[in-house]
Amino acid sequence: MPYPHLFTPLDLGFTRLGNRLIMGSMHTGLEETDMTGERLAAFYGERARGGAGLIVTGGISPNLEGSLGRPGPEGCFGRMDTDASLPLHRRVTDAVHAHDGRILLQILHAGRYALSPDLVAPSPLQAPINPHTPREMDDEDIVNTIGDFANCALRAQQAGYDGVEIMGSEGYLINQFLAPRTNRRTDRWGGSLANRFRFPLHIIEKTRESVGPDFILMFRLSLVDLVEGGSEWQEVVALAQALEQAGVHIINSGIGWHESRVPTIAQATPRGAWRDLTACLKKNVNLPVVACNRINMPEQAEQVLASGQADLVSMARPFLADPDFVRKAKAGQSGRINTCIACNQACLDHIFSGKTSSCLVNPRACRETEFTQTMAPGPERIAVVGAGAAGLAFALGAAQRGHNVTLFEASGHIGGQLNLARRIPGKEEFDETLRYFRNELAAAKVAVHCNRRADAPMLASGFDRVVLASGVAPRVPDIPGVHLPHVLPYDVALSPDQEIGRRVVIIGAGGIGFDVAEYLLHQHAARPLPITDFRKKWGVDPLWCTSRSARRGGLAEGPAPEPAERHITLLQRGATFGKSLGKTTGWIHRAEMKLGGVEMIGNVTYERIDTGGVYVRVNGKARRIRADHVILCAGQQPFDPLGSQLENATIPVHVIGGARKAAGVDAERAIREGFELAQAI
Ligand code: NAP
Ligand code: SF4
Repeated sequence: MPYPHLFTPLDLGFTRLGNRLIMGSMHTGLEETDMTGERLAAFYGERARGGAGLIVTGGISPNLEGSLGRPGPEGCFGRMDTDASLPLHRRVTDAVHAHDGRILLQILHAGRYALSPDLVAPSPLQAPINPHTPREMDDEDIVNTIGDFANCALRAQQAGYDGVEIMGSEGYLINQFLAPRTNRRTDRWGGSLANRFRFPLHIIEKTRESVGPDFILMFRLSLVDLVEGGSEWQEVVALAQALEQAGVHIINSGIGWHESRVPTIAQATPRGAWRDLTACLKKNVNLPVVACNRINMPEQAEQVLASGQADLVSMARPFLADPDFVRKAKAGQSGRINTCIACNQACLDHIFSGKTSSCLVNPRACRETEFTQTMAPGPERIAVVGAGAAGLAFALGAAQRGHNVTLFEASGHIGGQLNLARRIPGKEEFDETLRYFRNELAAAKVAVHCNRRADAPMLASGFDRVVLASGVAPRVPDIPGVHLPHVLPYDVALSPDQEIGRRVVIIGAGGIGFDVAEYLLHQHAARPLPITDFRKKWGVDPLWCTSRSARRGGLAEGPAPEPAERHITLLQRGATFGKSLGKTTGWIHRAEMKLGGVEMIGNVTYERIDTGGVYVRVNGKARRIRADHVILCAGQQPFDPLGSQLENATIPVHVIGGARKAAGVDAERAIREGFELAQAI
């Protein structure tokens, strides 16, 4: 058995979990839109079939005002304030149980994070991430809300769930009662520790009364709030012990409130950055505890369990990326896992943009009923030109559907722009994506020809179909002096043997401009960032979860900027920086610029470049910015040399990814386009 600790069952007395891997709660956006439950059943059922020991649903609100997003219609999956949604939930629990899986319903009341204008909270304090101010709950509201939690748990039991997870972390309502930051009450629900604990403990007591003893009760506890005025470590431990006394079966970990300014799950967070906190808690309680956040491969999970840091490991996004994660791990095939790269791009960023969640590396996630993995009607010989993200996704998808695929790549290796992305600090996870494609292309018997430039006659004569995925070329803006030797396009600047001077001007402040700045700030720093350096950089209390920890919320004095390797100036013509950055990660990149002392100048008009620097006008005023090197990150243009030559070909020719349209192309769009075309042929 490759991972003996991961695959040791957990006996809870009245029920048994087949392994120690939990698929953690994730909102998919289907909760408000899938009014038959068919898509959700397919989504969860597939993950149960893939071997997840225990699944937790996305956050389900126990009442109308607790809905996190815009409340869905009555009877939708996302609310369980009446019996109307029970048939949808039953469809999901049946789908999971059909594969001998276990599933918990997560009960989440968003409190002051709710996006509805009727939001409520312990005190009328607006969250920094919400435009609405909550109404202060009165005693009756609080008692009713406790009842709503218990009723929701009872309905979950009636719908066939194996238990519930009570969401007590990430800054939602329960957390808001616990922390002085958000609880300024002077009645029996605020002030002393006992009063602040009253709300969660009453929820547990009432829930236990409703559902009886043989129903899993998991509580997600915030191990560190990472906000001023959060809980103290001793309070976290005291609550965990009180929850154990109250009859909770498992404690899951939560790290950081959503309004925290410390990265907790994004790529900037090193793998396993928080697992020692679970280990600290485990020493203080006797019930199973769960480690989570930035654990994305079975080796890591096994290590957490083997070293006794936790009893279970929860992963959420990795199950979007690969529904068969557990099955592959069990079969000793971790090299075939499609690894979550912690980009947030197609999951959390979609949710926060009001779209259905999916996954950058697995565009089929949450679209399982649309793409049913059928074989192609008749195998074709298909040539793919370009082994970047789009070409790889197409080649793999088409070969898995039975086509004979030949992939031509002009350079010496697969990956295209992914090979540039992987050099950016924090984006090392792209190595896993490349490893996945390498292994899966071999398993699907795709003929991969690197160092081979395809030509039009050969393509038109030897294949039934051609897919052009030759990518993009950096745009060279029309600025006098742009062809001088110290002016480099971003792909050249990112090559490992390219020397770059101390003073750098970057032209273009989009996603790539920010990435190049981060690379040059810390080009020679340890990668991935060691956990202690990461915590110091973002201002996490180094004494947290020790008896000497005296600070609320786990924050130290403030972020400690690392010494930057270069002086960098980032220029753009527009006024707003980082417009194309991700909704949930843009703030991290902007903070990185600030920590690295990057000068950001908007509203520029470019005049010329010479060896003395870049000459611009800023709001009409002339300025010279000295530079040893100038790097062009001014967007991209399609690179499709074969398209015009194949215009009159007698076989179908498709152009996908950046070669089709360069504006706004990124790995998410490229992989999605490749995947979708492969499913259509
Ligand atoms: P981008 O985000 O659209 O940025 C292009 C930049 O070039 C803008 O700052 C633009 O600013 C400037 N520019 C455009 N035309 C120019 C011209 N003719 N002369 C001078 N400057 C010009 O594109 P990208 O940086 O190439 O990134 C490509 C895609 O990948 C984007 O969708 C991006 O979101 C994504 N990406 C995201 C990340 C991330 O989220 N961390 C990282 C990498 C890439 P002005 O027009 O204002 O001057
Ligand atoms: Fe992971 Fe990115 Fe997929 Fe989200 S979109 S599950 S972060 S790989």
